[in-house]
Amino acid sequence: MSRALFLAVRAACADALALLLPVACAGCDEPDTALCEACILALEPRPTHWTLEVPGGTVALWSALAFEGTPARVVRAIKEDGRTGLARALAPALEVALARAGAHGARLVPVPTARASYRRRGFRVPDLLIRRAGRRPHRLLTYTRRTGDQRGLDRESRRRNVAGSLRGSPDAAGRRVVVVDDVVTTGATLAEAVRALRAAGADVVAAVTVAATPRHPGRTR
Ligand SMILES: [Zn+2]
Repeated sequence: MSRALFLAVRAACADALALLLPVACAGCDEPDTALCEACILALEPRPTHWTLEVPGGTVALWSALAFEGTPARVVRAIKEDGRTGLARALAPALEVALARAGAHGARLVPVPTARASYRRRGFRVPDLLIRRAGRRPHRLLTYTRRTGDQRGLDRESRRRNVAGSLRGSPDAAGRRVVVVDDVVTTGATLAEAVRALRAAGADVVAAVTVAATPRHPGRTR
């Protein structure tokens, strides 16, 4: 990561610092900083990609960071502690993954946030990450039904849990789109998002996430 980028990220995080004193580094608990230099460096993108199977085809899946250590702690600080100022620190990772995925000119479609999660957090994580990367989220997906909590389910149960749960907007027809989420675990939700957008007539270029868990769809197949 360049020095200029580091300084820009630290300046952005200082805004969060001013609002949320006392604060500690989201990555390592060092006091009086939203994110220390070492933890910012640990967010340097290391893009990897897999082929995700979706009903009736496949799609390229790009992720910039492993969901472990510092990246996992920063993502959790955003999602669970509401430290939205940290999203700026993940923007370089999302930008790199989008570039590798060939997302230039494509509309970025966030995986929709379940109503209960939105009520709890007050913001939508994928939309926030897209905005902090200087892009606009295009909400072209909606839930057709409520889905159970994915945590604790195995791969097949996750796939069944989300199958048919999303619908693509008619506005998606004929559009080049990239599906964006914060973290991929088994890829079941992303696969459903891709299916729904393709069913609505979209040209889905790729799926992109900031981070991928060790259970991501490429490692266990
Ligand atoms: Zn730190």
